[in-house]
Amino acid sequence: MKTTVLKKIWLSPPHMGGNEEAYVKEAFDTNWIAPLGPNVQQFEHAIEDFIGSDIHAACLSSGTGAIHLGLQILGVGHGDEVICQSFTFAASANPITYLGASPIFVDSEEETWNISPVLLEEAIKDRMAQGKKPKAIVAVHLYGMPYKVDEVNAIASRYEIPVIEDSAEALGSSYRGFNCGSLGDLGILSFNGNKIITTSGGGALLCKDKSTKEKAIFLATQARDNAPHYQHSSIGYNYRMSNVLAGIGRGQMEVLNDRVEARRRNFEFYKEHLSNISEISFVTEPEGSYSNRWLTCVLTPSFELREKIRMALDNENIESRPLWKPMHLQPVFKNNLSFVNGVSEDLFERGLCLPSGSSLAIEDLERICETIKNLFI
Ligand SMILES: *Cc1c(COP(=O)(O)O)cnc(C)c1O
Repeated sequence: MKTTVLKKIWLSPPHMGGNEEAYVKEAFDTNWIAPLGPNVQQFEHAIEDFIGSDIHAACLSSGTGAIHLGLQILGVGHGDEVICQSFTFAASANPITYLGASPIFVDSEEETWNISPVLLEEAIKDRMAQGKKPKAIVAVHLYGMPYKVDEVNAIASRYEIPVIEDSAEALGSSYRGFNCGSLGDLGILSFNGNKIITTSGGGALLCKDKSTKEKAIFLATQARDNAPHYQHSSIGYNYRMSNVLAGIGRGQMEVLNDRVEARRRNFEFYKEHLSNISEISFVTEPEGSYSNRWLTCVLTPSFELREKIRMALDNENIESRPLWKPMHLQPVFKNNLSFVNGVSEDLFERGLCLPSGSSLAIEDLERICETIKNLFI
């Protein structure tokens, strides 16, 4: 029996630019294998230059760790409540629980699929009436699409609640000309393997001032007091990025703009080739928003049709994935309070992420579109 195996098309694979190995080699040649070293500083400078707005970046071992440190720096502690966008990856919410606090989930609006300003204010008022003013808000630019920053920031400042801007999926996106990552009180990035650029694993906390960055680095390196011996006056973590991995990050920053362009080109290709199928629709950028189109997502009229497309792609060795399952529907968070309107649940049922890697060839995109189009003949 002879079977031909079709080339696997992945959802969002790593895509090296070329110079990563040279920077990693530099770490070897200078024996900067111990965690801290020049690659980390250079990577941080490259991030700071890219984001602008006088941001100070602290590179860490993951985006999850960055959210954890960010919440701690904002003073979140045991028994506190933190508002978190429900429609997201679990890593936005998990660190809230590491600090003994509880996430309160808020559903999405339909335009950007991110946190609904209307429900956000409702949630804040409800909790304040119970004497439980939320300690922070975690808002997410899901799939690279900026959330309604003006509205969220206006509410946050009205009630004086700080915002952690989860930009894990949105490096290269911007809102009214300002880069995502610079729009909250603290921002976070992720360099996990499936993100727009990767260091294999890693993240960054983006701070408005140097002293906050220094505090983050202090906490990320076991909170060592200034003494020749090891002395500690507070609890620390081992969250700093390795100098070897930061070398990959330096190389990736050199090609970030190309990666954004390629992802946006994928989106345009899908839109052009699939939008005459009346059953398939796409989210558009609201005025003033620029999405890195980390993943191209499509909406179908029903769960059944979504699954039909997903299975047909799977049959052709093409990876696709349903949209994030909202946190308020996750078994682990079943006892958490949530403010819902049905939007994220509906998106979860009907939406699908298509292969979106920056290394996709035109032939790959054509193969994916043909597979989908064949279902509608
Ligand atoms: C990937 C991701 C994170 C976590 O980043 P890691 O680097 O994988 O820890 C957080 N939030 C969102 C929305 C993500 O997609």
